[in-house]
Amino acid sequence: MDTQVLIVGAGPVGLTLAIDLGKRGIRCILLEQKEAPQFLPKMERCNARTMEIYRRLGIAQKIRDAGFPRDVPMDVFIVTSLVEPPLLHLPYPSVAQAQAEIASHNDGTLPLEPYQLISQYTLEPLLKSVAESLPAVDVRYGCEFLDFAQDEICVRARVRAKDGAVTELTAPYLVGCDGGSSGVRRQLGIKLNGEANLLQLRQALYRCDDLFERIPIGKGRHYHVADDRATFLIVQDSTKHFTLHSVVDSDEDMKTMFEKTVAMPVQYEMLSCAPWRQNLLVADNYGQGRVFLAGDAVHLVIPTGGLGMNSGVGDAIDLSWKLAATLKGWGGPKLLASYEAERRPIGVRNVEASRQASRGRRAWRSMWRPEIRDHTPAGAEARANLARVADVEQRKSNEMIGAELGYCYRGSPIVWPEPGEGPEDNLMKYVPSTWPGARLPHAWCDDGSAMQDRIGDGYTLLRLGRSQADAGPLAQAFAAYGAPFGVLDVPDERPREIYGCDLLLLRPDLHVVWRGNSLPDAVTLAALATGH
Ligand SMILES: Cc1cc2nc3c(=O)[nH]c(=O)nc-3n(C[C@H](O)[C@H](O)[C@H](O)COP(=O)(O)OP(=O)(O)OC[C@H]3O[C@@H](n4cnc5c(N)ncnc54)[C@H](O)[C@@H]3O)c2cc1C
Repeated sequence: MDTQVLIVGAGPVGLTLAIDLGKRGIRCILLEQKEAPQFLPKMERCNARTMEIYRRLGIAQKIRDAGFPRDVPMDVFIVTSLVEPPLLHLPYPSVAQAQAEIASHNDGTLPLEPYQLISQYTLEPLLKSVAESLPAVDVRYGCEFLDFAQDEICVRARVRAKDGAVTELTAPYLVGCDGGSSGVRRQLGIKLNGEANLLQLRQALYRCDDLFERIPIGKGRHYHVADDRATFLIVQDSTKHFTLHSVVDSDEDMKTMFEKTVAMPVQYEMLSCAPWRQNLLVADNYGQGRVFLAGDAVHLVIPTGGLGMNSGVGDAIDLSWKLAATLKGWGGPKLLASYEAERRPIGVRNVEASRQASRGRRAWRSMWRPEIRDHTPAGAEARANLARVADVEQRKSNEMIGAELGYCYRGSPIVWPEPGEGPEDNLMKYVPSTWPGARLPHAWCDDGSAMQDRIGDGYTLLRLGRSQADAGPLAQAFAAYGAPFGVLDVPDERPREIYGCDLLLLRPDLHVVWRGNSLPDAVTLAALATGH
């Protein structure tokens, strides 16, 4: 076969998948129809969980170095323009402040890494260069995937190269990370369900070198304009580029809208402008046979709340170790099947989180009145009413830490079924938990190291509280499958308190398989964890 995994689409999701597979020594070919990454705006915030994942891949600092300056606050404003007193100012810490807070807390409530603002057009070339540095990864831009056929042994994909030549590539697995209009998904006949085409906006990208420094009302990342056109201005990572979204009739109107929002004379250039549509959709299935789907190919959210790319990175990291395990021979038949069982409910959950966030925005926008900019009692009242509603509703977009960190693979076939309901699912609040299926909460060890950094790439039995549990039978049971397994002893008191038990079995992606104070039958546990 030509490779072990064929990945279609070098957006952030396909690139992340290629990097994780490459680091696990799995050969993959990454096909991208574009000649090169494009300078077009889309996402701009890696959330905390994505940054933990990138830390594990060894690239978090690189991403921070390329992104928004660490000392600039991430505040969100609701304004009538950039020069008038804001109607609402929601302060959010800069990366430096958030890192200091994380360093001074040890109760499991905070992530190991805070968010990072980085524009998709900066992130993609960075991820591309990391993928290209890995010997196992073959990155092919200017290469269009056409179609595929699959049988019990492999997938055959037809691919058109830059020169127009059509060739066939074979691999045991194919993953469609080819975005919202995924050809791979369409060929599988898998439908997206939910609400499509909710609203069409235009998005334009501007270069304006001195605007950020000159904003008189305070530095932040989002400036929502209280108007009847859903207008909002987003500061991009360089602080010299901005995007504006608005419901207008023509590209030319986007210039007028920018000038109206900025409301002071500035030199600027509009670099691009394109329409985009809001959707809330999830695919019925996340693959079929030897073909899998990840990212926008299976879920489309309204970017409100930043759960688009970030959900896709979660898909990639769940699928990657399962593909690697299966290709290396130790993954059982239920391992790859568990990808859809684990990630589709999270796709549904994140679409719901996005729906709630966008409802919140609609709620405060519905308070707009034509007199809102007037210096009259009626104008003042309209501003106060909108601000009062926005103070509750806008937070739904910016404070979804429960959605970001608290997702749990409940009911997964490769997670130990613990009796009971488990912790309440709360999108707005993260309550640390080691309920089977949850992400291991961040804890600092006594020597200053982070627990997540000490967990290896295979399965780990974490022995806390000076537990003397005999790990021998479990080691043997994993060895019988050839699965990587290690034991980590951490006698420190704090992690034991945070995790609430003596023993935790963790998967390669840092999710909990099982927890308790004495080990269950080792053969049963290893079989379940490895998908046998
Ligand atoms: C205005 C806006 C703001 C956003 N803000 C955020 C945010 O802050 N946070 C967040 O998490 N998300 C955000 N998103 C969503 C985010 O941009 C997407 O979720 C993300 O790009 C999805 O990544 P992906 O890799 O799945 O797909 P894509 O980025 O769409 O990449 C798919 C790739 O596949 C390639 N491809 C398609 N067909 C083929 C083919 N036949 N052969 C070869 N290659 C092919 C495409 O060229 C493309 O490069 C935003 C989106 C928009 C529109």
